Amino acid sequence: MNYALVLVNIKGLGVKTFSYLIPDDMKEKIKIGQAVLVPFGRQGLVNAFVVGFSDYLDESIKAKKINKILDETPLFSLKYLKLLEWVANYYCCDFVTVLNMAIPMKLIDKNSKTEFSVEYVKSEGATKRQLEILEKLKQTGRFPLIDFERIAKTTRATMKKLESIGCVKFHTDEIYRNPLSIFSDIKQEPLATLSKEQEEVYLQIKKKLNSPNPLLLHGVTASGKTEVYFKLIDDVIKQGKNVLFLAPEIALASQLTKRLARKFGVEDVAIWHSSISDGEKYDVWKRLYNNEIKILAGARSAVFAPLQNIGLIIVDEEHESAYKQTNPAPRYDARTIAKKLSQYYKAPLILGSATPDISSYYYASNNNNLFEMLKRYNNAPMAKIKVINMQEYGKAAYKSVISKPLQTEITETLNNQKQIILLINRRGFSTYTQCKACGHVIECPNCAIPMIWHAADKKLKCHYCGQESSFPDECPNCGSDALRNSGMGTQKIEMLIKELYPDAKIERIDSDILTRKNAHIEVLNRFQKGEIDILVGTQMIAKGLDNPNVTLVGVISADASFNLPDFRAAERGFQLLTQVAGRAGRGAYTGDVIFQTYNPDFYALESAKEQNYEKFYNTEITAREEFDYPPFSQIIRVIISCENNFRAEKSAMEIAMRLNTMTDKFGFSEYLSILGPSPCVIERLNGFFRFQILIKNKLNEKGHSFVSKFFDKITMPKDIRLAVDVDPIDIL
Ligand code: ADP
Ligand code: ZN
Ligand code: ZN
Repeated sequence: MNYALVLVNIKGLGVKTFSYLIPDDMKEKIKIGQAVLVPFGRQGLVNAFVVGFSDYLDESIKAKKINKILDETPLFSLKYLKLLEWVANYYCCDFVTVLNMAIPMKLIDKNSKTEFSVEYVKSEGATKRQLEILEKLKQTGRFPLIDFERIAKTTRATMKKLESIGCVKFHTDEIYRNPLSIFSDIKQEPLATLSKEQEEVYLQIKKKLNSPNPLLLHGVTASGKTEVYFKLIDDVIKQGKNVLFLAPEIALASQLTKRLARKFGVEDVAIWHSSISDGEKYDVWKRLYNNEIKILAGARSAVFAPLQNIGLIIVDEEHESAYKQTNPAPRYDARTIAKKLSQYYKAPLILGSATPDISSYYYASNNNNLFEMLKRYNNAPMAKIKVINMQEYGKAAYKSVISKPLQTEITETLNNQKQIILLINRRGFSTYTQCKACGHVIECPNCAIPMIWHAADKKLKCHYCGQESSFPDECPNCGSDALRNSGMGTQKIEMLIKELYPDAKIERIDSDILTRKNAHIEVLNRFQKGEIDILVGTQMIAKGLDNPNVTLVGVISADASFNLPDFRAAERGFQLLTQVAGRAGRGAYTGDVIFQTYNPDFYALESAKEQNYEKFYNTEITAREEFDYPPFSQIIRVIISCENNFRAEKSAMEIAMRLNTMTDKFGFSEYLSILGPSPCVIERLNGFFRFQILIKNKLNEKGHSFVSKFFDKITMPKDIRLAVDVDPIDIL
């Protein structure tokens, strides 16, 4: 062991690894995961992490010496690095990129610094505004100064002023930041007593905790899944082990953390997501590594936090695509990594959802690992769902984008002073072709996904396999001439609703307003307080909203998400409709839900109407099998993009050709089928023309490694971008 491989973060160069000589007196002490100081060119001494060792080095390299070990306590283990290596291989990604994503590089900078903390002394002599700040500090207790300033929205000048009049005291020694200490007023609560149905499921799950495969808890919204998790968590903690609990989004993770802190105590719970400060990350990381945290809650990046002694992993709302990082690389899926962690640490993994991912449900039911709670806690009723058939568009009642029956319900709800959610599913592009008489959508004969209308060259195209056809004169299903290209925008609909209900308070939430930071949280808060009558929005409003005063949910175009050119479109649509329906009637009043559709017999819509997951699953899984989609195959998507359209297409064709040749040559053609290249549905993004190659792998591990190695070795011209996405969540 003569050399250490270290990870550095150099301005202008980025995150890289280099080899350094280990001085003899350091050999005993140096360990993987330690922060060290190394000389680096003109930069002088820089901080680095030890990530590997070797005895020999290429003779041509003249390694410099490590200067010093900054902190003897390592920040991660060899086992942890092995996991990251696996991630790099699985997701066809460079190891350093994975390291850079998983280990907050700022940790090493923080490491050598002393942080000021601040402590409350007295309130006498403070002004009114200063009193507010002091009140906060009293609540948090001694707190790192920088973080306190952020939380209390104050400045260093103000804090210095407070120190000068003796109201606060500064300290120079390091203390741990617990981001949860802002919740120090949280009152401890006992665990709920489980209902009979919950207790039964809990006992069944307990019996299967040594299963090497994920357990799936399928429970309708508000069936009490969280209460069941809590009971299982309690058992694990009592055995002296720790728990990782993932939620799909930061907002949901924060809500969850509060709930956990109430049940298990602020001291034992920590939160991890991409938006906690570097200082907080450093402290939580250290506490985790020292086994001082029992429950870590967080969003997808929390799977990379170094939790020790894991005894249970929970992934709530496991169907959510937010678990997958789409950009930048590594394009990892926290669910896949959670599964790996579970096998790695022999800790059970529990997935939970009201609308499980099709693949999760398939595997869980095949492995006898499926547990169901199909009633709400306390037998609370589900909302009543009505389907409006917009096919009868000739009739006056359905001529408007907002049908007469929906208009009537809106008026009634407004009269009752209740609130309304209108979902406009704009993720549907305006370009699929549908028959307004029978609801039929033109699909690719090879891929069973909608074809997309290209106005420029007047053709329908399949974005999976490249099949093209002209616009049919008549509907192939019913022969009518009512084929139209469909779609409409959020703003147009908002205007229409304002015209129809001039006295109502109407607000819109979609990705346009997201450009203003926190704007949508502010709108949601006002909606929650009852200051908005009608909330119009895209899928963002379908999740998490728990407003007991909402008694009507309307979906303007239930078909839009079904008609996306993606094999998961039906699944996503079903999930969206079921989740948004779950927003109505959560309080003392029963809820009504209206789906407007041109395709009322479509299986996903029908099952959503009946709130029947199993029925949807049974139809969907048959289609997946027939067309070889997941869970019957694995998909690897390759995107080739370039500012020059022609060069993008040419490179894509070359790669596809080489891939085909190599696949044959190495004998993988039995497992791998290569589709395309074809233009991506989103053909141009940020000035780049995009083409894609889809690789379907018949679940063959060697096939996957072959593809991984193929793209490892490939070098591209400077102007061409190549992105490999293993298990993509969409293909748009
Ligand atoms: P889910 O996670 O399935 O959506 P929750 O666990 O959030 O459901 O439960 C929905 C509501 O019902 C929560 O307010 C929860 O506190 C309450 N609840 C569920 N089960 C119980 C129980 N056994 N005792 C008391 N309250 C319960
Ligand atoms: Zn038709
Ligand atoms: Zn096709």
